[in-house]
Amino acid sequence: APQKVPMSIHEPNKYINYQRIQDNLEIVRKRLNRPLTLSEKILYGHLDDAVNQDIQRGVSYLQLRPDRVVCQDATAQMALLQFMSAGIPDVAVPSSVHCDHLILGEYGAESDLARAKEVNREVYDFLATTCAKYNLGFWGPGSGIIHQIVIENYAFPGALIIGTDSHTPNAGGLGAAAVGVGGADAVDVMAGIPWELKCPKAIGVKLTGRLNGWTSPKDIILEVAGILTVKGGTGAIVEYFGSGVESVSATGMGTVCNMGAEIGATTSVFPFTESMHRYLVSTGRPQIADASRAFAHNLRADEGAHYDEVVEINLSELEPRINGPFTPDLMTPLAKFKATAQEKAWPQDISACLIGSCTNSSYEDMSRAASLAKEALDAGLKVKADFIVTPGSEQIRATTERDGLLEIFRQAGGNILANACGPCIGQWARHDIKKGERNTIITSYNRNFTGRNDGNPATHGFVASPEVVTAMAFGGSTDFNPITDTLTTPSGKPFKFTPPNGAELPARGFDAGQDTYQAPPTDRSGVSVQVSPESQRLQLLEPFVAWDGKDVENVPILIKVRGKCTTDHISMAGPWLKYRGHLDNISNNMLIGATNSENGEANSVRNQITGAFDAVPATARDYKARGVRWVVVGDENYGEGSSREHAAMSVRFLGGAAVIVKSFARIHETNLKKQGLLPLTFNNPADYDRINPDDKLSILGLKTLTPGKALTLRVTKPSGENFDIVVDHTFNENQITWFKAGSALNYIAAANNQ
Ligand code: SF4
Repeated sequence: APQKVPMSIHEPNKYINYQRIQDNLEIVRKRLNRPLTLSEKILYGHLDDAVNQDIQRGVSYLQLRPDRVVCQDATAQMALLQFMSAGIPDVAVPSSVHCDHLILGEYGAESDLARAKEVNREVYDFLATTCAKYNLGFWGPGSGIIHQIVIENYAFPGALIIGTDSHTPNAGGLGAAAVGVGGADAVDVMAGIPWELKCPKAIGVKLTGRLNGWTSPKDIILEVAGILTVKGGTGAIVEYFGSGVESVSATGMGTVCNMGAEIGATTSVFPFTESMHRYLVSTGRPQIADASRAFAHNLRADEGAHYDEVVEINLSELEPRINGPFTPDLMTPLAKFKATAQEKAWPQDISACLIGSCTNSSYEDMSRAASLAKEALDAGLKVKADFIVTPGSEQIRATTERDGLLEIFRQAGGNILANACGPCIGQWARHDIKKGERNTIITSYNRNFTGRNDGNPATHGFVASPEVVTAMAFGGSTDFNPITDTLTTPSGKPFKFTPPNGAELPARGFDAGQDTYQAPPTDRSGVSVQVSPESQRLQLLEPFVAWDGKDVENVPILIKVRGKCTTDHISMAGPWLKYRGHLDNISNNMLIGATNSENGEANSVRNQITGAFDAVPATARDYKARGVRWVVVGDENYGEGSSREHAAMSVRFLGGAAVIVKSFARIHETNLKKQGLLPLTFNNPADYDRINPDDKLSILGLKTLTPGKALTLRVTKPSGENFDIVVDHTFNENQITWFKAGSALNYIAAANNQ
């Protein structure tokens, strides 16, 4: 029988439950009588009821029991506010909160961190006391980025983790199935309710050959993103397998899984490898390393397991890639980057190169990047572009500082920011570029949507491996190919990089650095949580009203969105992050980034009652003040990107009734349901074109809202003419109860008060 091993050093009394996985799989195997993929094993191993659960990939809704919930500070505020209003004394599963998103990168780690503690004091105090009261671990500002801390401390092979951040899949580097969810999902699980997930399909990525030379794990996912595109993973878990897997480090696999979020995948997973064993030992978890090795037969796919789609990549032939601008799936091989940049007229000078983040700040990444920087430095070169490093965690910072890597970056002209998200999430005070100025940046991050890093829509953001980013910082131009081109040293000699080399793990072990972890106190009865009614940052929640039992009739379209509409367009990050705990204030950013089909502009819509153009939130508030509900019409893959439920809550808060689109990104669709909204899709996508912004819409058939049964959308033209079109929904029975109660939380609160 599997041995009893603590899940993490921070929670010595909570044990890994491999026994449950084994027992569940025994039942499921008998029922399905076919080989299982790895993700199936992990998910079905965590079923709430393996005997009765309906299991059909892409069809059924699984009721699951995750091992852990993790939240970052921007999303934790709303999640904890929601949890508080459900009236439960204690989280039902091990949970933690991580302060990483609210730290503005400007001058450098020390001063930026000190200022963040000052500016965000109210929020940090709220999170620290809420964690202490409700029994969550709290990682304060400076401790690092959620996903790096999770892989260092909490992830283990075979775990099922949910996190209120879209890059939670990073924990797949240690063989966990880790899924990014909205705060409302986290609330469910913290409240002891099974977590519901549409049974994912499985996409297999077969890796053959071996990584070598300039190629790094990042290039695997840049290639996969290029092949599958930002929508390609929707509704699926991406599973890596094949002989090539063994040449990838655990942290490298973390990078691959992390950025799997960019193709819309539910998550990505790797089978148990010896590199995972090495990483677990190196991070102080030898017992978990051995227990998972002993359980490895259940931590890989069965022979002959069926994938819905298979992609094959030969790592021996894979070359570095640079993806972008503006979308992470626009893949250009490094060898063709120069020519493509010229052809597309991307700004040639590179203004900034940024490495680190949750995606790419492992010891291996840092040591390989430093090997290049050192070589250039030794030849007398300095970076030409701004060079910025954000270590993923205090442990990584302390270890790379001790080993002299950060000093190399500094000497080359680099600036080390706090162990936090910083520029990756728009928390970047740039002084070199004015808003609107065209420029190119390259990062080792995962996401490069318009305005993502610096709020400047003219910044062309590219993503690449930390090695390529570092080398490009010395080249300073899109014309430079670090593999083939030479630079000139101050003494006039040609300089050419040799391929990077680094260490998978620090030879001297990790240095934990400063202790920034706050464990919940044993006696939590005296802890009180304060939210001031005057606060501009935090606001206690009022429940949304329940469904009135009627159809939605003749409501205006707030905006007919054209083209890409990510959660960044719906609920922008950057300066708005500070309002994540204040629904009223943050709603002033609702849909301000979305393009209005009527005039091609962002944040300018016609008020259908007054006829005047105004900002989107102001128009919604006007409708709300008049007691008029409204709908949003959208395009393809609406809501792709992040798990933030504010993108759904604001729409509900300002009076939205439905969001009707050609297709949804999964997390956002579920978030809309949780907030009591109706996410609907055109049965015939071409119907999108038959709707004009000044039409009135009615949604008919709500009284008999039933899983699998389409609804009718009646479109009434200003002339009074009307026609009906078919709109589909994906509500199941349970989700229909949320809609009727007004929100999932209303439903949970009612159940708890019974
Ligand atoms: Fe932070 Fe960026 Fe990672 Fe998100 S993707 S957790 S913003 S570093």
